[in-house]
Amino acid sequence: MTEIKLYNTKSRKKEAFEPIRAEDVRMYVCGPTVYDRAHIGNARPVIVFDMLYRLLRHVYGAEHVTYVRNFTDVDDKINAKAADTGRTIGEITEETIGWYLEDMAAVGALEPNAMPRATGYIAEMIAMIEALIEKGHAYAAEGHALFRVRSYENYGALSGRDVDDMIAGARVEVAPYKEDPMDFVLWKPSSEDQPGWESPWGRGRPGWHIECSAMAKALLGDTFDIHGGGLDLQFPHHEDEIAQSCCANDTSEMAKVWMHNEMLQVEGKKMSKSLGNFFTVRDLLAQGVPGEVIRFVFLSTHYRKPMDWTEKKREEAEATLRKWRGMIQGVETGDVSNALLASLADDLNTAGAIAELHRLATAGEVGALKASAEMIGLLNDDMGAWAKGQDMSAYEAMLFEARQTAMQTKDFSDVDRLKAAFVEAGLEVRMSKEGVELVPSAGFDLSKLEELT
Ligand code: AMP
Ligand code: ZN
Repeated sequence: MTEIKLYNTKSRKKEAFEPIRAEDVRMYVCGPTVYDRAHIGNARPVIVFDMLYRLLRHVYGAEHVTYVRNFTDVDDKINAKAADTGRTIGEITEETIGWYLEDMAAVGALEPNAMPRATGYIAEMIAMIEALIEKGHAYAAEGHALFRVRSYENYGALSGRDVDDMIAGARVEVAPYKEDPMDFVLWKPSSEDQPGWESPWGRGRPGWHIECSAMAKALLGDTFDIHGGGLDLQFPHHEDEIAQSCCANDTSEMAKVWMHNEMLQVEGKKMSKSLGNFFTVRDLLAQGVPGEVIRFVFLSTHYRKPMDWTEKKREEAEATLRKWRGMIQGVETGDVSNALLASLADDLNTAGAIAELHRLATAGEVGALKASAEMIGLLNDDMGAWAKGQDMSAYEAMLFEARQTAMQTKDFSDVDRLKAAFVEAGLEVRMSKEGVELVPSAGFDLSKLEELT
């Protein structure tokens, strides 16, 4: 069996991955808060952990991997959006979830096995908070329930920072009902116009962190294999998840391996609305950037490195994929390259995997190219529609002009040479007085045309 090595944030080392139970490898990834279209940064954890999901399925068997990614559908940002637009929370979250699934499918992400919504697990959250209070790790005050951070000695172990340093660097809300400013909210009261559920602490709603702890426990158990998310979630979100889960479940760890993807930037700058470089996955798709091209650009950078989205990378990715799509037309799928698998198994070295695809293309190993690209979610049929409508007009003009010249000179050798090259590339050549038409047939190979230009 391929040995997978993963960088564990907790140990700050690359470790050989050993699942708790190889027949059921379990992974949880923090999903989006659903009030708006996913921006391209949001697609990074989706593509990174989709890659890990694919690798785990390949190694352990598709039916032996359970991947859970939640939707946070109760949050003050959603409430604010409802207030701004006059729409209901249900309409907003439903629509946003639909968009999210569409956009992530467009970049080739497989759907996780379960996509729980926080509002479906309120009872589990309340039960977990009650357990925490009973064990002395949490307390109720003024309609709130709060986690007593000082009661958990391992708090901060994930990010490897001292509690006091961490708190000093974070914006900690001081509130009269807190015993200690670092205690965080498990439950908070809702006003009449805010979404709320009855609880032992009055009508209210959960804090964000408890959502993941409750959903992960319900769907994956008290301790599971891998927990992932963006680097921005490491503190406080993941520290808080660990504190809640380990204290409520009496376990020493919530997940064995913690993985964090680095952030995405645009043209070397942090993406922000004020810089005008903020855009969504849908914006790119609407501009005609194929989802497959977006995926390729993402995979070209290792997940633990900051990633830069640039126009240049987009263009190069598109040219490469077009060329490879031309090469694999009508080719039978071969075997997945071992070198590609070895790269992926080495802490998801997707850049190395893409380098291997380039090598296979250069070596003309097209069957292996097809199989290996499919393994990482590229060059499969359902993502290929964008490359089908190839623009032949430049080549048509080339042949048309050659014929005009030949009519004058009576030398048709250039025309014959071009025609032969087009046929060789798998194009049907239709010539009439009006013009030239080139129609790709089954064996069409775009890379053969490149030699003409
Ligand atoms: P949110 O909806 O803000 O909680 O984010 C959903 C996911 O997207 C989380 O895993 C974040 O870490 C991740 N994320 C947000 N912004 C970026 C970014 N610029 N680059 C990479 N990941 C991001
Ligand atoms: Zn989470």
